[in-house]
Amino acid sequence: MSFDKQVYEKAHRILSSRRQRGKQTGERRREEVYHKLPQIARIDRELAQTSIQVAKTVLSEKQPGGLLDGLRRQNLQLQRQKRELLAQNGYPADYLEPVCVCPLCRDTGYADGKRCGCFVKILSDIARENLKGSTGLSDCSFSNFRLDFYPTEPDRASGVSPREKMEQVYAYCRDYAQTFSPASPSLFLYGATGLGKTHLSLAIADVVIANGFGVLYYSTQDLIREIETERFHTAGPERGGAFARITGCDLLILDDLGAEFTSPFASSVIYDVINSRLGARRPTIVSTNLTLKELESKYSQRITSRILGHYKDLRFLGSDIRMIKKKYRL
Ligand SMILES: [Zn+2]
Repeated sequence: MSFDKQVYEKAHRILSSRRQRGKQTGERRREEVYHKLPQIARIDRELAQTSIQVAKTVLSEKQPGGLLDGLRRQNLQLQRQKRELLAQNGYPADYLEPVCVCPLCRDTGYADGKRCGCFVKILSDIARENLKGSTGLSDCSFSNFRLDFYPTEPDRASGVSPREKMEQVYAYCRDYAQTFSPASPSLFLYGATGLGKTHLSLAIADVVIANGFGVLYYSTQDLIREIETERFHTAGPERGGAFARITGCDLLILDDLGAEFTSPFASSVIYDVINSRLGARRPTIVSTNLTLKELESKYSQRITSRILGHYKDLRFLGSDIRMIKKKYRL
């Protein structure tokens, strides 16, 4: 579960403002109740006194058992009185208890020494928002993937209908997303433009992030640009951060391989990223509009052998969905 540093920082800010709001609400309620029911202010003072006495007794007495029992009874009685007074005046019994969004971790983000579920939820919500912002494609999910756009007539070359093939691809991707773990395989999605590769990649990302994993999505062109900027325009401790983030995230999605401007630098970045992630056994999803032949002629053998030899390949068939959507105004 490795999210970006900025995601953690934002999540901590959210937790901190929850605690701050909780504290302010608690203080406001206490002021209101003390003003209306001064008896409760007195009870609270007595409760504070008993706590001090408990501490003193534990420290000074050799056998504090009897005294402690007395203090405990006194404490319970005061608390009961307080609850009764609150109830008689129309307040809920827990009106003066600490106010927090998550009672499990009291908005600290950790419970029993582990990350609390609320914290994981905040992290994944931020990561999902970031992903939607960075791709500009906010509505790609499994539920709105339209299998009915794929023709049922068998494809001439393979003899399989695009619909049948895409039902298998869809089922594989959905299962992959739901059962994703850092040990999941890398995927290679290939097929012509507009067959839903980006849609299914983002649908996978959405589910994987919701399950608490860190996902980064890049078009190949943007990834190269980011590493290029860092390598040639960044100095000091920040240098190397982008590459580490890209190679270290739980799942990297590299969209549209082949659409980038070809250069020796671009090829070496693609190789470094793919090779580092394979070496560290971290899954990557690569998608391309290129045919396997075009892929082999565009990239060196060291890149293609890694993708074709180590990735699970999924071929997309059909007619350009974007054209169909445009034609029928869907
Ligand atoms: Zn919590």
